[in-house]
Amino acid sequence: MDLYSGHINRLIEELSNLPGIGNKSAQRLAFYLIGLPKDRVGHLAETIVQARDNVRYCEQCCTLTDQEFCPVCANRNRDARTIMVVENSRDLAAYEKTGKYEGVYHVLHGAISPMLGIGPDDIRLKELMARLQGDVKEVIIATNSSLEGETTAMYISKLIKPTGIRVTRIASGVPVGGDLEYIDEITLLRALEGRTEL
Ligand code: ZN
Repeated sequence: MDLYSGHINRLIEELSNLPGIGNKSAQRLAFYLIGLPKDRVGHLAETIVQARDNVRYCEQCCTLTDQEFCPVCANRNRDARTIMVVENSRDLAAYEKTGKYEGVYHVLHGAISPMLGIGPDDIRLKELMARLQGDVKEVIIATNSSLEGETTAMYISKLIKPTGIRVTRIASGVPVGGDLEYIDEITLLRALEGRTEL
């Protein structure tokens, strides 16, 4: 595509590599950015670099945070003996928005997918198992109800069963193939309340 200058083409290409951004959106964004005042572009670029440099994984639950421990893990009023396992930090945020869950979380950063070559060692499972050495009474598996999410739930439940810790799975109020982050709060709460033993 040589319709635009090399710089614009490079910007369009970078933007179109972002998730959910097709070539058309990338072009629109590129021209929008180029049209912005210079200081606003500088501020945006700086914000991206700052976020990338300063965000880290919570020492306990592995979610993305600015501190050693995320706000949930740092909150002494949370029930640290109940751990909800989610695929990513966005799912954690979805459950936090309900304001009704009192336990803590564990963020896997992915799900097992033999098809994509993602195995148990590629997600934060070791960290979860290490946490179970402590005082834990229930692990609620809230991975998505996709094939990968179900595979991961089964795998985790098999690992935990021998420890004697209660393992539950959120109910199927969550639509099949549904991403937790797009589901409304009432459905999320219903799924949590209707969880079943694994
Ligand atoms: Zn945490």
